[in-house]
Amino acid sequence: MNDHAIAALAKSFRGRLIRPTDSDYDTARALYNGMIDKRPALIARCANVADVIAAVNVARDEGVLLAIRGGGHNGPGLGSCNDGLVIDLSALKSVRVDPSNRTVRVDAGCTSGDVDHATHAFGLAVPFGIVSTTGISGLTLGGGTGYLTRKHGLTIDNLIEADVVLADGTFVTASATQHPDLFWALRGGGGNFGVVTSFLFQAHPVSMVYAGPIFWDAAHAPEVMRAYRDFLPAAPEELGIFVGLKTVPPVDPFPKPHWGKRACAIIGAYNGSAAHGEKAMAPLLASVPPPLFNWMGAMPFPAMQALFDPFFPKGLQWYWKGDFVKSLSDEAIAAHVAMAGQPPSDFSLMHLYPIDGAVRRVAKDATAWSARDASWSMVIAGIDPDPNKADALKNWGRAYWKAVHPFNLGGGYVNFMMDDEADDRLQATYGDNYPRLAAVKAQYDPDNLFRVNQNIAPAPVKAESRAAASRKADHGGDALRPSV
Ligand SMILES: Cc1cc2nc3c(=O)[nH]c(=O)nc-3n(C[C@H](O)[C@H](O)[C@H](O)COP(=O)(O)OP(=O)(O)OC[C@H]3O[C@@H](n4cnc5c(N)ncnc54)[C@H](O)[C@@H]3O)c2cc1C
Repeated sequence: MNDHAIAALAKSFRGRLIRPTDSDYDTARALYNGMIDKRPALIARCANVADVIAAVNVARDEGVLLAIRGGGHNGPGLGSCNDGLVIDLSALKSVRVDPSNRTVRVDAGCTSGDVDHATHAFGLAVPFGIVSTTGISGLTLGGGTGYLTRKHGLTIDNLIEADVVLADGTFVTASATQHPDLFWALRGGGGNFGVVTSFLFQAHPVSMVYAGPIFWDAAHAPEVMRAYRDFLPAAPEELGIFVGLKTVPPVDPFPKPHWGKRACAIIGAYNGSAAHGEKAMAPLLASVPPPLFNWMGAMPFPAMQALFDPFFPKGLQWYWKGDFVKSLSDEAIAAHVAMAGQPPSDFSLMHLYPIDGAVRRVAKDATAWSARDASWSMVIAGIDPDPNKADALKNWGRAYWKAVHPFNLGGGYVNFMMDDEADDRLQATYGDNYPRLAAVKAQYDPDNLFRVNQNIAPAPVKAESRAAASRKADHGGDALRPSV
C-alpha cells in the first residue's frame, strides 16, 4: 500500500491507522489462530461507519487488497491479509437491546460474549456459537450454529436486517424488504458482498439453563455415539447437545484420575429448569454406561457460552476440516473412533453439531445457507500450543477427514474450512444456491473487491446485459448490474 493511499485515508479517518512501524502492530495483527501469520500494510481500526466507507473507497480506488476483520477467529485467518488493508471492526462494540420486541442491534466488532452479557440482563439471548470470544460478524455471515439452534435456528435465521457498506462505498440496509437479494446472500454467503457494520437480531427468552459436559471413557464412544444419534430426533428442541471425541483436559477442575484420557463427550444446554433438563436427558443416560463424570447443572446461559474459553485461549495452532453429515452409520462411527483415537495432541477434537428442528423449518433456498437437510455439521480440529506440531495437526486433520468424508455430504460449513479446500468445495456447499450467490456477487461486487473470504466468483455478465447496461450508462443510468 503506497504512501499516497495511506495519506488519502488518513485525511478522513477518525479511528486508528496502525502501520508496521507502530509499537502495537504485532498485537493488532495477531489472529486467534496462531498458525496464521499475516502482515497487512495497514490496519484501519474504524471508529464508525464513515471510517468504513473511507477505507472501502481507498482500497477500491487504489487497487489495494482488502480484508475485513470482525472477531479475527476465522480458521484460515480470512479476517486479515498480507500487504493489504485490513478494515478492523473490533472497536465497534455497541449492543442495544429492545426488550419490548426482543430485538438486539449489534455492532460488527462484538464477540458473542459481548452480546450475551448485554442480553442476559433482559433474560434474552440470540443463538450464537459455543465459544464466547468468537466474533459475531463472521459467525453470522457464515450461518451460525450453537446451543439454541435446534429450537431457534441458525444465527442467520434470527437476523432481521444488516447495515452494509458496499464495494462502491454506498451504505444500504438489507432486510426482507430492502435489497432482499443482498439480504438473502448475506445469510450464509460470508463476507463476499460488503462490510456489515451492524446487525439487528431477534432474541429469545433464555436465562438460567441446565447445561454442561458429560464425559465417557473413549472405550464407550461407539455406544454413546449410537445412543446420541438415536436419541436426538425425538429429544425436545430446548435441548441443544452435541457429541464430541476429545481428551479429558489434564487440569483442575477435571478429576485427576481421568486427566489425559481420550473420551467421548456430550455437551450442551437445556433452555429451561434443571428438573425439565434432567428429564429430557434421562432416556439418553439410561441407554449408555455410567459416565466418567456428569457436570450438567443449572447455570446462567452466558456461563455455558463461556465454559470453553479458558481451554482455547488466543494463539493456539488450529487446523480445521468440516463436512455436513446426513446420517451417522455404525460404520461411520467406527471410522470416527479409529481416527479420534490417534490424535496429534490432547487438544485435538471432533464435534458433531445438530442441524435439525428450527433449521429444517426454513426452506433450502430461503437463505444462501443451504444444508438444511443435513443432520449435523461436523468439525475436526487439530489443536496445540506448539507451532512445531503444525504439520502433525494438518496431517491428522486431513487423514481424519479423508476417512469419514465418504459417509458425509459433499459440502461443509464455510466457517469450519481452511483455505486449502478443493476448487469445487464451495459449489458443493451451496448446492443449488450457488448460481444465485454468484449473480448477487456480480450485482453488488462485480470486481471482487471483497475476496479475502471463502470467495464466490462474480457470475459472468451476459453480452446482451452488458450492451444494455452500457446503453443505460451512456444515458446516465446505473452501472453494469446483471439481474438476479
Ligand atoms: C474457538 C472457536 C469456536 C467456534 N465455534 C463456533 C460455533 O460454535 N458455531 C459456529 O457457527 N462457528 C464457530 N466457530 C467458527 C466461526 O464462526 C468462524 O471462525 C468465524 O469466521 C468467526 O468470525 P469472526 O468475525 O471472529 O472472524 P474474522 O476472522 O474476523 O472474519 C471471518 C470472515 O468473515 C468476514 N467478515 C468478518 N466480519 C465481517 C463484516 N462485518 N462484514 C463482512 N465480512 C466480515 C471476513 O472477511 C472473513 O472472511 C468457532 C471458531 C473458533 C475459533
